[in-house]
Amino acid sequence: MRIDPHTHSSCSDGTDTPAQLMKAAAVAGLDVVGLTDHDTTDGWEQAADAVTDTGVSLLRGAEISCSADGVTLHLLAYLFDPDYAPLADALAHARQSRSERTRRMVEQIGVDYPITWEDVLAQTTDATTIGRPHIADALVAAGAFPDRSAAFAGPLATSSPYYVHYWALDPVEACRLVRDAGGVPVAAHPRAANRQRRLVPDATFNRMARAGLAALEVDHRDHTPAQREQARALAQELGLGVSGASDYHGAGKPNRLGENLMPPALLKRIVAEGTLALITP
Ligand code: AMP
Ligand code: FE
Ligand code: FE
Ligand code: ZN
Repeated sequence: MRIDPHTHSSCSDGTDTPAQLMKAAAVAGLDVVGLTDHDTTDGWEQAADAVTDTGVSLLRGAEISCSADGVTLHLLAYLFDPDYAPLADALAHARQSRSERTRRMVEQIGVDYPITWEDVLAQTTDATTIGRPHIADALVAAGAFPDRSAAFAGPLATSSPYYVHYWALDPVEACRLVRDAGGVPVAAHPRAANRQRRLVPDATFNRMARAGLAALEVDHRDHTPAQREQARALAQELGLGVSGASDYHGAGKPNRLGENLMPPALLKRIVAEGTLALITP
């Protein structure tokens, strides 16, 4: 069974619509795809509508923005009740804060580069969650950079003077909220040091494990082989499962569907523990 449990659609910073993503998953030979847009569940319905036609099962999820003492961490959450208010309100708060922060970054970047807030909005199409990738797309459209990666190496870098923080849940609190919502939390790319200079310490993952964390995403292209081994050892030490995924963003990133996979036993456990079902053809 080929399971790719971490992907993005145009509801956040991917470039495929949820329906296109499901078709791409079929072409990539996947049996199960997880749709995990940043801080939103808006793509679930359209993706679910494509399950029968594509023959690909849908694992409903989201990638929740977290901040541990100023260090960003992404928490994947699977099969939770999207109407559980404490979690839904936190996601709405994060989207609002991201939007305001993106606008402030654009004001500052716009002093030195030929982009406006309207140019960024023009890049979002049906996105509910707006972020730096949309600024990158506007910079590319303006001819300032060849692709998203180049823009992220420049004015969009976390270390850049244009960078602005946004409100996000504490990751231990987020694990509790996801469990309270009937969901199953998995830490996304926990050792990806290429994304930011500071990483979340092992002690935080220990606290997250005690708050219900189910697994660490070990097999991810943003981890070097050494980082994968560190993450695998940490998962074993904390009694956590081991996941893998592509983190596909369509044309927005080089990540290809199915390049890393989740072991079937972990999916089985997530389905057993989650309040929602896997949607099958
Ligand atoms: P934000 O959440 O608005 O701070 O933006 C972070 C998002 O940008 C992540 O979810 C990634 O998908 C994306 N991202 C980070 N680094 C890169 C990169 N080098 N190239 C393309 N996208 C990136
Ligand atoms: Fe993203
Ligand atoms: Fe992420
Ligand atoms: Zn992701």
